[in-house]
Amino acid sequence: MSGRRYNCGCGKRRFRDEAAAREAAAADEEAYGVAVAVYRCPGGLAWHLTAHGFIPEALRSVGRRLAYELVEHGSVEVAEFRTRMGRPGSRRWTRVERCAEQMAALGLVRREGGPPGRLVAADLPGLRRVVQAGLDAYRP
Ligand SMILES: [Zn+2]
Repeated sequence: MSGRRYNCGCGKRRFRDEAAAREAAAADEEAYGVAVAVYRCPGGLAWHLTAHGFIPEALRSVGRRLAYELVEHGSVEVAEFRTRMGRPGSRRWTRVERCAEQMAALGLVRREGGPPGRLVAADLPGLRRVVQAGLDAYRP
């Protein structure tokens, strides 16, 4: 793990791992009386704190964005979602199908029809974890 990927451009406090972020979140909750959540940086390996919840546009990775929409809506039309991720054939557009396959293999979603077809949320706590930590970091 290079140090570089911990130096993201978010301008937020950075923590090396989830445990350190949780510790700081607990201290902030104690000090300021607000609920503080932890999440892995969308642009790197660091963890950050937020008192404002997640903004979907800030979840830059395709996997996290897909997980977010599944948590919010319960299901996602893959073809429609894909058109919002990028131009046909682009890296992000192609990534959507890979994420869908990975999520299905992990039991996070059920596929109906397709590909592309439709994804139905099957494991909400797991999908919330993907939003928080990213699909590649997710371990069932
Ligand atoms: Zn960051």
